[in-house]
Amino acid sequence: MTKTEIVARITGIITILVLSAAAATASPADEKGRDDVIGSGFPTVRRSVPLTRQEAELIVPRPALKPVKSMIDTDAMVIDTLDTVNEHVKVVLYSDNTWQYVKDGDFMMQAEVFNEYWDEYSMDPYKIDLDSLDNVWSLWVVDSLSQYHCPYLGAVHPRGKFGIRRGRRHQGIDIPLTTGTPVHAAFDGEVRVSRYASGYGNLVVVRHQNGLETFYGHLSSRKVKSGDWVHAGDVIGLGGSTGRSTGPHLHFETRYKGYAFDPQWLIDFETGDLRYRLFVLKKKYFSPYSNYEQDFEDEILNAEDDAREDAERAAMRYYTIKSGDTLGRIALANGTSVAALCRMNGITPQTILKIGRTIRVQ
Ligand SMILES: [Zn+2]
Repeated sequence: MTKTEIVARITGIITILVLSAAAATASPADEKGRDDVIGSGFPTVRRSVPLTRQEAELIVPRPALKPVKSMIDTDAMVIDTLDTVNEHVKVVLYSDNTWQYVKDGDFMMQAEVFNEYWDEYSMDPYKIDLDSLDNVWSLWVVDSLSQYHCPYLGAVHPRGKFGIRRGRRHQGIDIPLTTGTPVHAAFDGEVRVSRYASGYGNLVVVRHQNGLETFYGHLSSRKVKSGDWVHAGDVIGLGGSTGRSTGPHLHFETRYKGYAFDPQWLIDFETGDLRYRLFVLKKKYFSPYSNYEQDFEDEILNAEDDAREDAERAAMRYYTIKSGDTLGRIALANGTSVAALCRMNGITPQTILKIGRTIRVQ
């Protein structure tokens, strides 16, 4: 054995010793980490910083961002519920020979999200200052065990959009419907509110596992009560026109931490598709005015305004200017005055009349 060989062998032994020492010290921590994960059935590792979209897309490749079709309604009845190897997941068998995995609601409802900031009355049990909120959240909206159902398939009314209306905030969207048609829970969750509320009329609020809340207002009847666990697609009530409403429609809201954002970021109501499995919610989707209560008076005023404008439009009359016409002659022939003609058309008595142009006379 040469000197070099001896040095090499000794170095090797030292290296092995160092590695085993490292393994011995590392192992208790690893074990502990693993126990935490196994113990709860869910990973307990918490990130203090939310996933960025880029990070999320590393975990979930692009295809997962494809729209998710709404569940199809069937008349199939549940014929049996079977256990799986995971005690918190059941298999539900239906009369049309289909089946689906479902989460066990009793177990799910033990989660913190269904116990913190929980009350069966208020619209915003969080009362969190907007400034203290993060700027972006990545929310799983559906996963392999939770489906999605469009709450109501239909076009958002042009005056029922989310946003500022008459200087006030409309916190949701309005979709006209026929009274009595079923309204579905969009996702799995626990019913937090089921009551008659001024403005909203019959209102159901469902909180979902990711912390999102969905609001269903103006219902003619409610089919669920506070504390019920609902699956996506369950009928939570029937559409109607209760509360401050001018006609049957669903007032639908999506909220996070008490703040409303446009549900159309999430759902395409005309196709019924959910736009994302993983939804990147930005704080900028909230308005600074969102602490204001829903103003349903607006919906009534809008409808009244529309009726008045329609009547005015129906009453308008026009005259086509001919050779030799003067404002005085047109006014006389149409039972009005030059001043009224000038006001209605935004002109002055000195304006030169052009032959062939139309002028509003009533
Ligand atoms: Zn509305």
